[in-house]
Amino acid sequence: MRATLMYGAGDVRIENVPDPQIIEPTDALIRVTRACVCGSDLWPYQKMERSDTGRVMGHEAIGVVEEVGADVRRIKRGDFVIMPFAFSDGTCVFCHDGLQTSCVHGGFFGTPEVAGAQAEAVRIPLADGTLFPIGAHADDALMPSLLTLADVMGTGHHAAVIARVAPGKSVAVVGDGAVGLCGVIAAKRLGAEQIIILGRHADRIALAKDFGATNVVSERGDGAVDRVRELTGGYGVHSVLECVGLEQAMNTAISIARPGGAVGRVGVPQEQTIPGSEPAFYNNVTVGGGPAPVRAYIEELLPDVLEGNIGPGRVFDRTVGLDGVPGGYRAMNDREAIKVMVTP
Ligand SMILES: [Zn+2]
Repeated sequence: MRATLMYGAGDVRIENVPDPQIIEPTDALIRVTRACVCGSDLWPYQKMERSDTGRVMGHEAIGVVEEVGADVRRIKRGDFVIMPFAFSDGTCVFCHDGLQTSCVHGGFFGTPEVAGAQAEAVRIPLADGTLFPIGAHADDALMPSLLTLADVMGTGHHAAVIARVAPGKSVAVVGDGAVGLCGVIAAKRLGAEQIIILGRHADRIALAKDFGATNVVSERGDGAVDRVRELTGGYGVHSVLECVGLEQAMNTAISIARPGGAVGRVGVPQEQTIPGSEPAFYNNVTVGGGPAPVRAYIEELLPDVLEGNIGPGRVFDRTVGLDGVPGGYRAMNDREAIKVMVTP
C-alpha cells in the first residue's frame, strides 16, 4: 500500500510499504477513507531528526473495517469507524475514568512504534476499545466533521472542559488553528457568553466568528493581555483554552485568566517547564490539560455532528490525495491552509 513517511524535518514522502497485517488477536485493519494532517504533525515537520527508516505519519482517520483478529468481539468487518488518535483497551482503570489517553495498554498512532493513518490502511491495536463504530447511514457531507472527532473537535472540547467553561462564562481561546477553532465551537456549545479568539489570520478569524467568537484580539504578548482585560471589565476571563503549546502562548493564557479562573492546555508543549508560575500562583489560576481522551468524548459530540448543530468539518480548507500530502504539510506549515484533509 501507499503511505506517508517522514524522514526528517521538512522531508515527507509518499512510498510503497508492506500492507498492514493483523499481529495481535485484538487488532483490526481499517481501510482509510479520510485522514488529515494535524497541527501537531508540524512539530516533527520542523524539528524531526533524520531517520533512515522513516515514520508512517497520521493519527486521525475514519474508515471501514476490513479484517478483525480472533479476539475482537464488538467491532465487525464492514463497520464504518472513527479512529481516535490514541488506542486504548477500554477496560483498564483509566479507560473507566474516561482518560483513554492514559490507558495502561494504550499508545499513539503515527509514532515510531505504531504506524499512522496518512495511508491507504492502518492496523488498529485493541480494536474493541479503540474504534468507535458509526451506523452506515452517515451522509457524505458529514464526513469532514466526523473526521474531527478523531482529534481536533475532541481536543478543543477537552480544553473547554478542563478550563471549566459553563453557561454565562467568559472564555478566551489562545490560537486560531484547527484546535482553537474547535475550542470556539466547544465553548459556544457549553454555553459561554463571551468568547474571545486570540489570533491574526483573516480566514481563521472569519471562521471563528461563524463558530461563535464574540471578540477578536490580534495583539500578542502584553498587548493581548491588555486587550482581553479591557474586554472583561479589567478582570480577565473565567476560562482560557490554550491551543498552541509555545511559551508565549502559555504565558498569555495564564495572564488573561481572572483570579480563580482556569486554563485548559491542549497545545503540545514545546518547553520543559510551564511558564507563568507567578501569575498562576498569585491569582489562584488552575492550570490543567493534556492529550485529550477524544474516545471518551465521541459519544457526547457525535449527536450534535449528526444533527448538524455543530460543523467542525469546516476547519478543513484543502483536500488532497496521498500524492498531495507533502504539499499539504508545506501549506499548513506556511499557514496557507488551516487543516488539510487526505482522501487516500
Ligand atoms: Zn485502558
